[in-house]
Amino acid sequence: MRILPPKIWRNKDTHYSLVASVCEKCGHVNFPARTVCSNCGSFRVTTKRLSGKGVLVSYTVSHQVRTGHEKESPVYYGLIRLDEGVELVAPLVDVDEEPREGQRVEATIRRLRVDSSNGLIEYGTKFRLVSDGQN
Ligand SMILES: [Zn+2]
Repeated sequence: MRILPPKIWRNKDTHYSLVASVCEKCGHVNFPARTVCSNCGSFRVTTKRLSGKGVLVSYTVSHQVRTGHEKESPVYYGLIRLDEGVELVAPLVDVDEEPREGQRVEATIRRLRVDSSNGLIEYGTKFRLVSDGQN
């Protein structure tokens, strides 16, 4: 799959630093950041960098991977609720034992894919499980 650097640059706030918008009128947090609140329609929003810390709500496991990525199987995907209330789906990394729902997670930057035509590497946010007492 071809990697387009301009597209990565445009999405850098979402992919690398989890920037959301917070409505000044109703307090709703929108992720990715928006110029209009999705809850009340207000244009009075400010941007906020999310902590990247949250809870694993649920997860699923995929044993199907693309050719050349067999070492990465199985791949875990988590439904994550960040401490700011935002929910998102993201890959889980460094999964050594079966994840537990309710387990703490934190964002980390990892390699997503490599463009086979030119060697460009795309990085993005994944989440790792945090052992009790580390978060
Ligand atoms: Zn609002």
